[in-house]
Amino acid sequence: MSPVDLHGRALSNLRLSVTDRCNLRCSYCMPELDYAWLAKPLILSFEEIARVVEAFTRLGVDKLRLTGGEPLLRKDLPVLVELLAQNAAIRDLALTTNGLLLRELAAPLRRAGLHRLTVSLDTLDPQRFRALTRRDGLADVIAGLDAAAAAGFAKLKIDSVVLRGTNDDELVPLLEFARARDAELRFIEYMDVGGATNWSMEKVLTRAQMLERIREAYGPITPLEEHSSAPAERFLLSDGTVFGIIASTTQPFCSSCDRSRLTADGMWFTCLYARTGLDLRAPLRAGAGPDELAQILRERWTRRSDRGAEERLALHQREPLAEPGELRSNPHLEMHTRGG
Ligand code: SAM
Ligand code: SF4
Ligand code: SF4
Repeated sequence: MSPVDLHGRALSNLRLSVTDRCNLRCSYCMPELDYAWLAKPLILSFEEIARVVEAFTRLGVDKLRLTGGEPLLRKDLPVLVELLAQNAAIRDLALTTNGLLLRELAAPLRRAGLHRLTVSLDTLDPQRFRALTRRDGLADVIAGLDAAAAAGFAKLKIDSVVLRGTNDDELVPLLEFARARDAELRFIEYMDVGGATNWSMEKVLTRAQMLERIREAYGPITPLEEHSSAPAERFLLSDGTVFGIIASTTQPFCSSCDRSRLTADGMWFTCLYARTGLDLRAPLRAGAGPDELAQILRERWTRRSDRGAEERLALHQREPLAEPGELRSNPHLEMHTRGG
């Protein structure tokens, strides 16, 4: 039987970070100059990942998203996808990428059995892209999006983090860009997660402010009535365009959160903001099979009470979650380690 946590939430969604490395340095995620990386021998092998995913699916996980760091940096990623695609319990096998390496990898990933792709893209201006990510990569991301469409990935999603004073003048261009590619755009509020050491509330463009600006440009916006645990609220413009907003900072959705995260070295976090995780690498390397692992997961999930984003919202004074020093001594707190 599928377990529920202390707030009655099922476990149905797993974000699996396949690497903590990244080829960008987005200012809202990796603004520092140097980072402490996970040691290579600690990174789970494909066989270990498939075994632990089997345990998750026995407890009801049917949505799996590969992420990172930058997941396309993981060597032989299509081989892993092929292995995971053999697990018939996974109804939705998706991947979130910054798109830089997608031109080469979109077709192999599709052939390996990946169902869906989300590409992160925050600006359409090459100079701004470089300033935001510390790399000159906009043309590669656009080529990657084209390759994804050509490889047969329908319903592509594009995720854009909106930072006031940085890219908040691009809501309409990004919407137009996504529409021209038949992709669905989702605006993400800047979150005070681990890694976001430059975060401040002044830099957040809130869901309400985003809607106001979009309404000014397009007229009335209709919220779509949907009953799902997906983080994005979706909206319809009068021209038929659908877009989403993920308002984790000002309107968290913890009450329906069925997600957890596994780092590339096998630490399991039951909340994006959790300060501690559960080590699954030790039992995996001691030879635990899916049944034994499922028992460990069940035991932890039934004690879960996390509501991290709601607790952050209730704070009077909101500051970055962690200092650079704390992040260096505990890299598992980083967004690029635990997987966004
Ligand atoms: N590297 C891949 C990418 O960027 O798509 C996957 C990992 S990244 C951590 C996953 C998502 O987290 C990205 O869409 C990114 O924009 C988002 N993200 C990272 N830091 C964030 C922050 N401080 N606030 C909101 N979203 C953030
Ligand atoms: Fe940017 Fe994703 Fe890399 Fe973070 S992990 S720096 S969001 S590309
Ligand atoms: Fe789920 Fe934690 Fe995010 Fe809330 S803050 S939605 S409990 S992961």
